[in-house]
Amino acid sequence: MISSIDDLPPALAASVTPDEKRHIESMGLLPFAVTPHFASLASPEADDPIRRQFFPDPREAIPDPFALDDPLGESLHRAAPCLVHQYRNRALLLAARACAGYCRHCFRRVWISRDRGPRSGDWAAYLAAHTEIREVLVSGGDPLTMDNDGLAELFGRLRDVRPGVVLRLCTRAPITEPGRLDAGTINMLAGFRPLWMSVHINHPRELSSPSRDALGECVRAGIPVKVQTVLLRGINDEPATLAGLFRDCLDLGMSPYYLFQLDLAPGTAHFRVPLGRGLAIYRELGRLIPGPPAYAVDLPGGGGKIALHENVIAGERVSGKGAEYVLRDKDGRDWHYPAE
Ligand SMILES: *Cc1c(COP(=O)(O)O)cnc(C)c1O
Ligand code: SF4
Repeated sequence: MISSIDDLPPALAASVTPDEKRHIESMGLLPFAVTPHFASLASPEADDPIRRQFFPDPREAIPDPFALDDPLGESLHRAAPCLVHQYRNRALLLAARACAGYCRHCFRRVWISRDRGPRSGDWAAYLAAHTEIREVLVSGGDPLTMDNDGLAELFGRLRDVRPGVVLRLCTRAPITEPGRLDAGTINMLAGFRPLWMSVHINHPRELSSPSRDALGECVRAGIPVKVQTVLLRGINDEPATLAGLFRDCLDLGMSPYYLFQLDLAPGTAHFRVPLGRGLAIYRELGRLIPGPPAYAVDLPGGGGKIALHENVIAGERVSGKGAEYVLRDKDGRDWHYPAE
């Protein structure tokens, strides 16, 4: 893991501006860290879509009136310290606090930045008692920061508690550190089917040939791979870019799953694509590719995921924070998301 400017590839290290350097050194919530592999995909230009995803940006320090420490309202659905139970038949286990590298747009930055280690013991009793849960999302952080023995032990415990439960491994490591997904790891994962993988991929250039190989192997090993993408300003907010990404994913046998409107985590406002523009991009995307992902947002404040389309917008208002859209869910409840 690269966590200082001096360890970056020379061309990238030379591209660091004094402003960025100051910011990296006085890092706020989320540390600067990138894998050598992901750094090798970046070019030195300030607007490079790979570089921008891991280079701290001075704009992270600008206060955002809309920012929330718990943007998804997960604490409202916390069943145990590491377990979130929001939807009846599936639960989310926050199994790791670290990642192979850190995405500047991360919505879990507050969770990751806390140094409390995972408390894996507390969830078992809850899962045992709640037999309506049929699927456990194993997320974090990135669970692939654990070694294979640790992961196998965790999956084994989940199956001891709830035989037959579907496992969903949520990870970005196949992109940031494709070597982590070697034959031994894929074999281990395939041994825990029914298991599928949800991989976070934002830009076609992230699908380097080692990543393609590793993900293609997963699919061949019977591990379905679905792709989650975060809509990011200046990175993938063009229909052609997203269409290229999802076409490549389909070619590899992976299915586009979610395109997420940005969550309101602190220090990420400069990545936000205005919702109105997001809807226009999504409309165009539907014309360019078959089987586009669902465009969705996790409603700020704990309302859960909602599919985004014109009819969800019930109006606009100006609050103390600024201009907002009113989003109406299927139960008729109103939620708010910034207009810009
Ligand atoms: C996103 C999420 C899930 C999974 O939802 P899907 O629509 O099945 O991807 C489950 N639990 C929580 C808390 C989530 O945020
Ligand atoms: S891999 Fe996921 S959890 Fe880790 S920094 Fe990136 S967005 Fe956050």
